Amino acid sequence: ALTIGIVGLPNVGKSTLFNALTQNDVLAANYPFATIEPNVGVVELPDARLQVLAGIFSSERILPATVSFVDIAGIVKGASEGEGLGNQFLANIRESDAIAQVVRAFTDNDVVHVAGKVDPASDMEIINTELMLADLQTLEKAITRYEKEVRGRKLDPSVLDAALAAKALLEAGTTLSAAGFDASPLRELGLLSAKPFIYVFNVDEGVLGDSARVEELAALVAPAKAVFLDAKIESELIGLDPEDAAELLASTGQTESGLNQLARIGFDTLGLQTYLTAGPKESRAWTIGKGWKAPQAAGVIHTDFEKGFIKAEVISFDDLVECGSVAEARAKGKARMEGKDYVMQDGDVVEFRFNV
Ligand code: GDP
Repeated sequence: ALTIGIVGLPNVGKSTLFNALTQNDVLAANYPFATIEPNVGVVELPDARLQVLAGIFSSERILPATVSFVDIAGIVKGASEGEGLGNQFLANIRESDAIAQVVRAFTDNDVVHVAGKVDPASDMEIINTELMLADLQTLEKAITRYEKEVRGRKLDPSVLDAALAAKALLEAGTTLSAAGFDASPLRELGLLSAKPFIYVFNVDEGVLGDSARVEELAALVAPAKAVFLDAKIESELIGLDPEDAAELLASTGQTESGLNQLARIGFDTLGLQTYLTAGPKESRAWTIGKGWKAPQAAGVIHTDFEKGFIKAEVISFDDLVECGSVAEARAKGKARMEGKDYVMQDGDVVEFRFNV
């Protein structure tokens, strides 16, 4: 499943946000370095289509797609020097599909800032620099090895070239994702700054409705995507029933919680989409990449579905809603039989036919 690693300086609101995420009572302590162990939280990707499907099929339950978040503690200024970033830290972050960096933009004099003042641009630079330094160390080691392997004709020289190009970009001071660098030849290295980045600005409640300030912060990270939330409000939302939650959001000028936004933007940033299955038991969303073909998509449900794939009956969500039932969609020619070369579309309602 899709995993997003949450990083950020100490005391920027990671634990607070993470508590909201997991509905756990992980300690959110008002002092730096409180967060030591990584934790995993899962959020459901909100998808209003599932309710509609469950209505059409009288489904017993609804299973949305999910996004996992890993709370990755451990980045402080100078973290990549000396002992380097801890092994556990590196393992957690390498396994993440994307990185969400929480940036403090709230002003609360009671909460100590590790660098002494609230300065989002400088905080982001500290974190990004640590990630880039870690990547430089990784690359330097790899390049020595790659040079030997290329001399011994054991490695395609293009891999070495990619490593040298990545190193040059980092030395010029840009993260690999910001440079649009294609790190796929170097996948085995798990380069941190090559992962897609999402910035999460933890702002004062008043800022959420202040479009000028929001745009100013968004401009700091563009073209990377930014989410704006108030971690304290996110944690309050958790305890509320849906109506009260909607009211609290509305009072801050929002229509969707920050965590939902983060799940959605994470999906988008990684080029993911969902297709849907529905029946009396459940209406369910399945996560796939954009451009995936039908057999690969079937494989997400079960590997046997991919191996034994015959065809897929596909109805677009909109057509199904318009027709009101599968029978009607078939009668109107809206149910298509698609073969193994069919490229899946977001919101396809699918039934796979396969050999076991
Ligand atoms: P972490 O070290 O990044 O995990 O930060 P924490 O989540 O532990 O937050 C540090 C302190 O800042 C705690 O006292 C939180 O209550 C407080 N805090 C977190 N988010 C906000 C926020 O949005 N506004 C305000 N005023 N305080 C916050």
